[in-house]
Amino acid sequence: MKSLYYSLPLGLALLTGCATPSPEQTEAGLGFDPSLLDSTTSACEDFFGYSAHGWIEAHPIPETEGLWGSFHVLNQQNELKLKALLDSLDQNPPATNSYARLLADLNRSVLDTAALEQKGMAVLKPVLGWIDSLESNASLGAWFPVSQGYGYGSPLSVYVGADDRRSSQNIATVAQSGLGLPDRDYYLESGARFEDIRTRYVQHIETQFRLAGFNPKPETARQIFELEKSLAQAMMSRQERRIPEKVYNKMSANEFVGLAKNLDLESYLGGCGLTVDSLICAQPDYVRALDGMVVRIPLTQWQDYFRWTVLRSRSIALPQALRDESFAFYSKTLRGIAKPKPRWRQSLDQLENGLSEPLGRLFAERYFPSESKARIAAMVENIRAAYGERIDGLTWMSPATKQKAHEKLKAFTYKIGFPDQWKSLEGLVIDPTDLMGNLNRLERYNFEENMAKAGQPVDKSEWYMGAHMVNAYYNPSFNEIVFPAGILQPPFFDPSADEAVNYGAIGAVIGHEFTHGFDDQGRKYDAQGNLRNWWTSEDSAAFVALTDRLVEQYNGYEALPGAFVNGQLTLGENIADLGGLTIAYYAYQKSLGGKSAPEIQGFTGPQRFFLGWAGVWQISFKEETLRDRLITDYHSPGNFRVIGPLSNMKEFGAAWSCTAPSPMQRSGQEQISIW
Ligand SMILES: [Zn+2]
Repeated sequence: MKSLYYSLPLGLALLTGCATPSPEQTEAGLGFDPSLLDSTTSACEDFFGYSAHGWIEAHPIPETEGLWGSFHVLNQQNELKLKALLDSLDQNPPATNSYARLLADLNRSVLDTAALEQKGMAVLKPVLGWIDSLESNASLGAWFPVSQGYGYGSPLSVYVGADDRRSSQNIATVAQSGLGLPDRDYYLESGARFEDIRTRYVQHIETQFRLAGFNPKPETARQIFELEKSLAQAMMSRQERRIPEKVYNKMSANEFVGLAKNLDLESYLGGCGLTVDSLICAQPDYVRALDGMVVRIPLTQWQDYFRWTVLRSRSIALPQALRDESFAFYSKTLRGIAKPKPRWRQSLDQLENGLSEPLGRLFAERYFPSESKARIAAMVENIRAAYGERIDGLTWMSPATKQKAHEKLKAFTYKIGFPDQWKSLEGLVIDPTDLMGNLNRLERYNFEENMAKAGQPVDKSEWYMGAHMVNAYYNPSFNEIVFPAGILQPPFFDPSADEAVNYGAIGAVIGHEFTHGFDDQGRKYDAQGNLRNWWTSEDSAAFVALTDRLVEQYNGYEALPGAFVNGQLTLGENIADLGGLTIAYYAYQKSLGGKSAPEIQGFTGPQRFFLGWAGVWQISFKEETLRDRLITDYHSPGNFRVIGPLSNMKEFGAAWSCTAPSPMQRSGQEQISIW
């Protein structure tokens, strides 16, 4: 799926991960703070600078962060609310086995760092014993799913979700996995920065082995790195993985098992608890290459690799020295972050990983006003109506494809706020004194729950994001857009603020998620969420010609000296930003019912609309974090999410009286309009 900001695993289309001005900074009713606008920067030269310079100056990046924006300020407010709720649960423990008790007990086990020092490395004894007892390379097939199932990671990962070509039915997908660095590029790319990170990574592995008392041989850390590098070399790139047909390789279980001679894939499926006739293998070539590695690399090196996956994935539950070393590499070296988050925020991360739905429930039951749901639902319908009119007016699409696009538009479902029903967590055991055990049990519980869905009908009531989160997503298999309670607050949505700003912020987010259903990936799914072509070949060609131009536009954006946005990697998000803003703009115009918008404090309605969008993307980055995101994030950096779409919109030029060509107003010929 796809999200607004932070990319979720498993291909959801998210919106993004920024924060907003806090309520006291937002002038009541206006929806943004005019005193933070930079009067020395021209809106037509640099609208991001005009709207964000003042904000960025007033909101330096905290030492615990690699990036900081209006998204994150809102997220911080949500975290503080959750902390207060968890603190009160700690004072008055809820009933045993209640969802709140599970949260309270897990929270307590994370906060008790004294216990981690006391227990030391003994908490890893069971898993290390299992790794020691692997007898031969042939036993790796059975070990991979155990290692994934406990959350340590493995060269193969399996996930059960809707079948892309039969969206009502769940199917298992097996995919490449198992790297300790954020992307295969980190192993394969040349250049001083990558060389440096690789050197430091090997040193980091060695340090952790020593701190854990593993007595590594001089070559151990290097061998682990080389093993991961071999995995990386066999992997599909992020760009390729965005192409749904490329990763949809459905095969019988027998065919899958036959992909490998040495790796025992029958035991692998058994270890996953899967008894299935068919499955999807996302990267068959990778599985074949992995099969070669299974004989080529000695068992002792595989065992070291798996010891490393355990240390890497569980540093949160290990003594301080290992936690500090993990922070020094993963946060400081890779992302330029100066200081670890306070432990209570680390605890929220753990709750979000393992108990995301209950955490969202805790938040939403206390903090989601029911009026908001109706307001947002009305906005979704207004935007759907505006979308329909835009489709009718498209000059590049034939009537036949337009009709199908309308069918898909009508079929979109949506969820707002929080789930109607909460999942049962029956059988899950959380012990307030046993963090490592809790993480093992949680991972295993969630893994088994997911595997049990194989072959079952899809449950369309399911949510894939906690209700507390400042994010949103589109799920192509459900043809559904989802807006958690966490994002339905200022600066995205303020029930008491001017509608122009609401349409520019949450309205454009809604339009963004709708447009994911019509981006370069989403357009390949039909109204029922099946990967099935509904386009004439001429219309497909016209779409690709337009989106190629968008790729070129974003490829030209230099985020840091010598480091450019990857227009292909970010294409789906850039299409969604451009389409989302355009549709929301016309939905806003429609909402005025033929009247012109009042001017407020010198700003016209359209100007306030665009300030609403820019207010969502006030953000700055640590250089290291930005460099990492340019490789790993499917979203363009915040400044280009303002400049990129707005410079394509003549509506923006008209609102701010910009003459083309200027940085914020490409010439008429250059401007790209898709939806
Ligand atoms: Zn998105």
